[in-house]
Amino acid sequence: ISKLGVLTSGGDAPGMNPCIRAVVRTAIYNGISVVGIRQGYKGLIENDMFEMGTRSVSNILNLGGTILKTARCMEFHTVEGREKAYKNLKDHDIDALVVIGGDGTFTGALKFSQQFPDVRVMGIPGTIDNDLYGSTYTLGFDTATNTVIDAIDKIRDTADSHDRLFFIEVMGRDSGAIALRAGIACGAEGILLPEKATAIDELIELLKKGEFNKKSSSIVIVAEGDKSGNIYDLAKKVKQQISNYDIKVTVLGHLQRGGAPSSFDRILGSRLGYAAVNALMSGHTQEMVGLEANVIKTTPIEEALTGHKFKLEDDLLQMVDVLSI
Ligand code: ATP
Repeated sequence: ISKLGVLTSGGDAPGMNPCIRAVVRTAIYNGISVVGIRQGYKGLIENDMFEMGTRSVSNILNLGGTILKTARCMEFHTVEGREKAYKNLKDHDIDALVVIGGDGTFTGALKFSQQFPDVRVMGIPGTIDNDLYGSTYTLGFDTATNTVIDAIDKIRDTADSHDRLFFIEVMGRDSGAIALRAGIACGAEGILLPEKATAIDELIELLKKGEFNKKSSSIVIVAEGDKSGNIYDLAKKVKQQISNYDIKVTVLGHLQRGGAPSSFDRILGSRLGYAAVNALMSGHTQEMVGLEANVIKTTPIEEALTGHKFKLEDDLLQMVDVLSI
């Protein structure tokens, strides 16, 4: 390959910048030119691209978000949209593409690559959801979990001072990965996950037990995708049964996406970016680079999309009730 395009797409995730830096510098080190594409597939279709040099990525290791910006782009879903993207790539003589994003981004990359196989494509898992097959961790998951832990620690201080019960909503529409880890790390009394139905009666029993055991505060972490319904309605239902606690709801929202990437995400981003360029140079295409058992590996994008998703660890699931007595 002689010229490589790099883009970030879908939801932003801390660690994308260290990853972009690694892609750019590994390519240039190996004599490959790099073009940065702004706003994901939107920039590809709208020809919003610029040449990148080693200094284009100076001092970005510590920055959250993505310097390339990201967007959702409906036009890339169409054959015609992808044709426009291909034409722009050809006009720039780009023969390889690195896409950093989640499952939607990979679906787009696969369709593009099947339509135009002469452009080599490599995916890098960048999403706080940690929900891709072929990598134990995705970029941004560790930082987001740390951010959630930091926020819940602060909420615990006020909960404890006032004998309060807090319901805290964290991100994860389909994945309870952040909720479960943050729950263990913050000693949550209850954790509600999309992967596991929890009956309200059971939750109420658990909270009543905590009250009986003289807990001065209780925290229930609710992943966005939990099936019990709206978090405010849930809090109301619980309030009807537990009157001693003052009940509050906090939705953490987008603060979970921001902030400087953790050491883990900086190193993961660097490893994956470096590995992606090396894989492209060795002739790989339509694959995703990932980290499993601390070893870098590649997985066909098709398999990354259809393989069994990241499974929540059984020991973590089982210990929630034990460690919060
Ligand atoms: P996150 O997991 O953080 O949401 P994501 O990569 O899954 O990230 P999406 O918004 O689902 O985010 O996808 C990003 C972009 O990928 C879309 O805006 C679209 O341009 C492209 N894309 C998604 N699905 C398809 C598809 N079926 N065909 C073509 N392109 C797609």
